[in-house]
Amino acid sequence: MNVLELKNVKKTYQTHKAVDDVSFAIPEGKIFGLLGPNGAGKTSLIRIITSITRADEGVVLFNGEPLNSSHPAQIGYMPEERGLYKKMKVGEEIMYLARLKGFSKKEAKQQLEYWLERFDIQDWRNKKVEELSKGMQQKIQFITTVLHQPKLLILDEPFSGLDPINSNLIRDEIYELNKRGTTILFSTHRMEQVEQICENIVLINKGKNVLEGSVADIKEQYKEHIFKLQYQGDLPVGMGEHVTVISEQAGQLTVQLRDVVHANNFLKYLLAHGTIVTGFNEVLPTLNEIFIKKVGGISDE
Ligand code: ATP
Repeated sequence: MNVLELKNVKKTYQTHKAVDDVSFAIPEGKIFGLLGPNGAGKTSLIRIITSITRADEGVVLFNGEPLNSSHPAQIGYMPEERGLYKKMKVGEEIMYLARLKGFSKKEAKQQLEYWLERFDIQDWRNKKVEELSKGMQQKIQFITTVLHQPKLLILDEPFSGLDPINSNLIRDEIYELNKRGTTILFSTHRMEQVEQICENIVLINKGKNVLEGSVADIKEQYKEHIFKLQYQGDLPVGMGEHVTVISEQAGQLTVQLRDVVHANNFLKYLLAHGTIVTGFNEVLPTLNEIFIKKVGGISDE
């Protein structure tokens, strides 16, 4: 069952095609990455999914139904531009937003206590939001996004502005929510985070789908037969006929196998020539490398 499915979605602003025929599906229970460089159309897509704007063309299905007014309440969305009432105290703010999401006063209070304790931030209860640092505000925003246990949680650059400790805290919380059944759509241009967190991705560029699938399959598809070899003793003199050396350090080589050479054959060749092999691992491309290959790099960061 797909929690979300987009089919041939298009959105044009004036003459600019912000979303140009994008299709993808997010199966229930997945952590799904929506990737693309700045201006690719990620926010435009999220605004369509959350019913803030409408697609010009195409279909968006939530739980198999065309988007309708009952769906936004089942979605939690943390936009990149965080928005909290700055003059409110943290406790009041969480209570207020919980009440807006339909909790009774008692339930809202329970949520407040649960999250203040969970994040160990009881001291913040009576602080005004504007007195908190950017990262601290982000933790509050995260709480207000997830407290109604949405079926689909959409996080736009959830780690931007967070230090490593808080990034880990939020990441663990994302895993925990996912374990309890929330499907997650994680939008970012930071590839290394996606690699750690997401099982499936869609990559968009200039409003179009460029790549879609599981991270493992995509890496497999783009692998370039590069291996890291650790060894002792001498290397065979004629090794260059079998592999291209990419980099070399004491006792360690990174090589690219020629198409015809199977990894096992290369190993056999080394062993037959008396090289002592202490390590031999395939090096798969990072998503960042694949991304640069497909899209030609990102302008910032
Ligand atoms: P970023 O990573 O920088 O947030 P993004 O992938 O979220 O980028 P979008 O914000 O969806 O990108 O923008 C896609 C394109 O659509 C951009 O060229 C942007 O200028 C344009 N665009 C977005 N919203 C509007 C709007 N309301 N009116 C006109 N153009 C818009």
